[in-house]
Amino acid sequence: MLLYGVVVSVVGFCRAPAVPLSVLPDSSVRVTEVTRMYPVRMARVITPHTALDIAHAVSAAPGPISIGGGRYSMGGQTATPDGVQLDLREFHGVVAFDTAARTITVHSGTRWREVQEAIDPAGLAVKIMQTYNTFTVGGALSVNAHGRYIGQGPLIRSVRAITLVLADGRVVTASAQEHPELFYGAIGGYGALGVIADVTLDLAPNSRVQRTDSTLPVTSYLNYFRARIQPDTAVVFHNADLYPPAYQEVHAVSYIETTLPVTIPERIQPSDQASWTHRLAYKSITSGRLGKWIRRHILDPAMFRGNPVTWRNYEASYDVSELEPASRDRSTYVLQEYFVPADSLPVFVPRLRQILQAHRVNAVNVSIRHALADPGTYLAWAPTEVFAYVLYYKQETSPEAAREVGRWTRELIEAAIQCGGRYYLPYQPLATRDQFARAYPRATALFAEKRRVDPANKFTNTLWDLYEPDRAGGVPDVAAARMPAVLPAEASIALDTIQGYGRSEGAEYLTHTEWDLVYSSEAYARWLRQGKPPSEFPYVQSVGTFWRGYLATWSASRARAPAGFGKHLMLGVIGISTAVEYGVKGLYETTVGRLAELNAPAGGTAEDRYAAQVAEDYALLINQKGWYEFSFRRALVHLWTDVPWIGPGLLRKWERRAWLSAEYGLKAMYATLIGLGTATAYAPDELQRYLVVAGWSDSMAPGATPDQLRRVAWLDRHYALLAVPRYAAFRDALLSLARRSARVRVAEISGNTVVTLTGTAPRDWHPPARSRVVVAYTAPDAPARVRVLLAVDARDLLAVLAETEAGGQLRVDHIYDY
Ligand SMILES: Cc1cc2nc3c(=O)[nH]c(=O)nc-3n(C[C@H](O)[C@H](O)[C@H](O)COP(=O)(O)OP(=O)(O)OC[C@H]3O[C@@H](n4cnc5c(N)ncnc54)[C@H](O)[C@@H]3O)c2cc1C
Repeated sequence: MLLYGVVVSVVGFCRAPAVPLSVLPDSSVRVTEVTRMYPVRMARVITPHTALDIAHAVSAAPGPISIGGGRYSMGGQTATPDGVQLDLREFHGVVAFDTAARTITVHSGTRWREVQEAIDPAGLAVKIMQTYNTFTVGGALSVNAHGRYIGQGPLIRSVRAITLVLADGRVVTASAQEHPELFYGAIGGYGALGVIADVTLDLAPNSRVQRTDSTLPVTSYLNYFRARIQPDTAVVFHNADLYPPAYQEVHAVSYIETTLPVTIPERIQPSDQASWTHRLAYKSITSGRLGKWIRRHILDPAMFRGNPVTWRNYEASYDVSELEPASRDRSTYVLQEYFVPADSLPVFVPRLRQILQAHRVNAVNVSIRHALADPGTYLAWAPTEVFAYVLYYKQETSPEAAREVGRWTRELIEAAIQCGGRYYLPYQPLATRDQFARAYPRATALFAEKRRVDPANKFTNTLWDLYEPDRAGGVPDVAAARMPAVLPAEASIALDTIQGYGRSEGAEYLTHTEWDLVYSSEAYARWLRQGKPPSEFPYVQSVGTFWRGYLATWSASRARAPAGFGKHLMLGVIGISTAVEYGVKGLYETTVGRLAELNAPAGGTAEDRYAAQVAEDYALLINQKGWYEFSFRRALVHLWTDVPWIGPGLLRKWERRAWLSAEYGLKAMYATLIGLGTATAYAPDELQRYLVVAGWSDSMAPGATPDQLRRVAWLDRHYALLAVPRYAAFRDALLSLARRSARVRVAEISGNTVVTLTGTAPRDWHPPARSRVVVAYTAPDAPARVRVLLAVDARDLLAVLAETEAGGQLRVDHIYDY
């Protein structure tokens, strides 16, 4: 039986070839960042090479414009939906280098590595930068980065001057003396005021440094730092790693200026530091308590053996490639950072420990670093002397896991704020607007300055789409027209109270395979209703489309959120059962059935008509329920009680009667078995789904079925949560909404931002530009049409539906509702 099913499946697969559809040229681009969790579809990416190119691009674009440096910020800070990104990575190089004055001027797209390579031969080093040298100078300035330096702090402390391209294309110079409002606004301003073009930085001598380390209880660390580290002017780098999962001990590491000869002669580390040993180390550290124990007691003691002497530039030239895992599909490594007044360490650390432990955060470590106060940026994260707590952890990428990260992140932000501290903005935008306002009270002053130099609000990005102070008073329509790429924290918090809201994304694509069976059952019912002979139905091709759909959706789901083994097992059982059923049916109908058809009267026998009716009822039921819920027993009983035994075409009548009895009888038994198994394996599914929309108004009853789309709650002023019945009603409600309102945009469906839909269209159909074809194959019963599975971003769903409706060529059968 199994072998027969496999043979039918293979033959069917070959006879149902995929149809390549020409997708309309789509000039939009997906911009993503290092975690891959915040892809943003933008209209265009422009790569300027000169400051003049930047000025021209800025004057020419009406906005929105976002600015991209190395794109290592972790939440869409370099992008905004449908906007233009200025990708500054090609705008790099040294403009001026003065060894006597120890200053360098570079284009903002220059990476720290390039700066180091330029200054190292002159015996100089960067004064302040991050731990890794992969970032651009402009990206570092815009977040006002910091490193592990002692006696330093925010990067602005090493900046002499910048040039800034404003929204009208003007280029101005800004420093602490000249246009200080632009200087303190652009540095740490995340691209809100304009594009930082050139940057003049102070440099430091490239001294030799010797590493020392010790492990101590975190409770002793503040005294240790005040007594041993802070007063020692020879300490260049210093940080203390708090070990998870106990968070009781720190491993303090210092690099102290020395006159000893170097033990590592390389002056700068190689740029590619990816290696399987690094990947293995991070994987084992994040694979449970044992991994963390191994790190603490085996890996670190081995790594920190001896007291090597290196050049300062060597220690400041790590490359982020050393952190890159083999894949970020299912889980990803992420950073967060909290800045708390240094003396509040004894209050903040226990709170940090409690939150991380309560939420079982899979931390690699929390690195504690010191920073002196900021000289006056609007978005200063160190208004006073602080310790930075840099949390590096691993998280799953599923929507539910991401929501849980949002919950504990907000707790940590609250803890930092309550200690008089702040959180860092280049990471995931999970704070509430209220938390942002409390952490960064001078954001209002920054945006007052922005209104002066960028009145049309040209420059924006995901961060400012969510937190720009002004938008609090914006009109609700703003949300629909300029819907941020990310749902605001307030809306996510409100969603936490909705039972059964979030659903797994992995199953979504694969569900198409089950629907393919619905389509073939509908096609069969249609076939019989039209009086076509069952012997000519394309049974084998119908099996083939199942497997074709399965392979395409499996590969699509692998790249997003892979489904579990159970789902594949279930689909395998369904596929093979269907292949056996259709194979046997095809064999019988094309032999015995075809002979008996010769005896059938015009319009068929009563049994033929009965079979057509049963096929129709069955197709109707499986649109909403499992196939095994169809009562084949009742179909069998009615065949013998309701259909006359005698009539025209007696031979065909009795052939059908015998065949249908066998079919219904066998299916009744199989359905009982499967039904029992399914009832024990799965809880009954909910019959409604939720979607989050922006631009909704309660007067928007969607067409003839106003009760189908029900507003459950306002999540915040812009976003409404709607409940929709599943299946056909879901499709109809969305089609109706697409027809009626261009103002509404869907943000999420059941917590997911990608939606799939199927339909049939003529073979020469062009899919809408904002959709992606997952698979397309000839509809077995209508060779002139193709069945197509499209994936669409939720935010584009209604526009795509409106476009396909207007085109009139795609008949949408189903919108997958998770
Ligand atoms: C592995 C890792 C380690 C890190 N370690 C540290 C650390 O030790 N210390 C620290 O402080 N931070 C650290 N960060 C955060 C990092 O400093 C920021 O994400 C920084 O912005 C990255 O630089 P980038 O060139 O990738 O900037 P991007 O991510 O490209 O841009 C960041 C922001 O700056 C804006 N921007 C970029 N260029 C310009 C410009 N020329 N003019 C105006 N606006 C611009 C962008 O619009 C965006 O809002 C780390 C991040 C990662 C991923």
